[in-house]
Amino acid sequence: MEIDSLSDRILNGDRRALARAITLVESGRADHRAQASELLARLAGAGRQALRIGLSGTPGVGKSTFIESFGMMLISQGLRVAVLAVDPSSTRSGGSILGDKTRMERLSREPAAFIRPSPSQSHLGGVARRTREAIALCEAAGFDVVLIETVGVGQSETVVSEMSDLFLLLLAPAGGDELQGVKRGIMEMADIILVNKADGDLKATATRTCADYAGALRLLRKRPQDPEGFPKAMTVSAVEEHGLEQSWDEMRSLTNWRKESGYWSTNRAEQAQFWFEQEVRNALLSRLATPQARAEMERLGNAVREEGLSPSVAAETLLSNLMPGQGYS
Ligand code: GDP
Repeated sequence: MEIDSLSDRILNGDRRALARAITLVESGRADHRAQASELLARLAGAGRQALRIGLSGTPGVGKSTFIESFGMMLISQGLRVAVLAVDPSSTRSGGSILGDKTRMERLSREPAAFIRPSPSQSHLGGVARRTREAIALCEAAGFDVVLIETVGVGQSETVVSEMSDLFLLLLAPAGGDELQGVKRGIMEMADIILVNKADGDLKATATRTCADYAGALRLLRKRPQDPEGFPKAMTVSAVEEHGLEQSWDEMRSLTNWRKESGYWSTNRAEQAQFWFEQEVRNALLSRLATPQARAEMERLGNAVREEGLSPSVAAETLLSNLMPGQGYS
């Protein structure tokens, strides 16, 4: 399809065009990359912005149930909601944390919702770029809220928090000892901790767990960009749909505060710069990974080890060969 018409359809909020464009940004083919860049550049001109909400939690904590209930609540308020996933651990073909069709059944039927599973690449750098570009496409398509879901594994929370305006951590009710299980770094990323499953038999435990985390959050250094009381912990029930509106109110009040203080736009600018630098790093690393570059690395490495070639001269030789037009790109 012509990039022109794809771009127009996306700007009109056409979900099929959006899905198609995301497939384009997920493609590794050089001609697709070129088209994707053209499309993204064109759409950036529209200057549309959504609220980007990162959401993390271990499997079983209730992420998809929460996203469905929360998403339905947002839609009932007249908002359009996109859901993307970052799942670097998924190596099954087409597999993803959102791949199971039975998940988010109600939400997936809503015309105001768009749900996209994680690409199946296991390389986090690649997934990060595709997710960022998918976010930009959803924004251009006029979605008000983009939820970016990730499972709590390794580096994926950091990646998601670096592309979100707000970061939510979903937790399950648990005994006091298990509080230790949440890594400090992840706690520090969270703007709001949601203790899910605060219903039925689990309600009392959820309330206690929430108090424990509220205490733990108070011990963390308050962020200068945030109002009193943040980061905060709250209880919700995704199944009974309790606490969803309250959590949305908190997200909005934090967002408004950050917009008024200027933090919101500074944060986005810094994120953009961070990703620019990551892209440069990734591109250089991928050039180092080509067979020619690896062979050259070995050849020069041998020369350094056995023939007394200076390490810095060898490095310069290698790096100058990696530059465009030198036969390595
Ligand atoms: P995910 O792996 O984090 O996406 O978790 P799911 O949304 O698939 O939920 C895992 C299990 O927890 C399912 O059996 C859900 O029905 C259950 N669950 C999710 N939210 C709630 C809740 O608010 N209350 C209760 N009691 N169970 C829940």
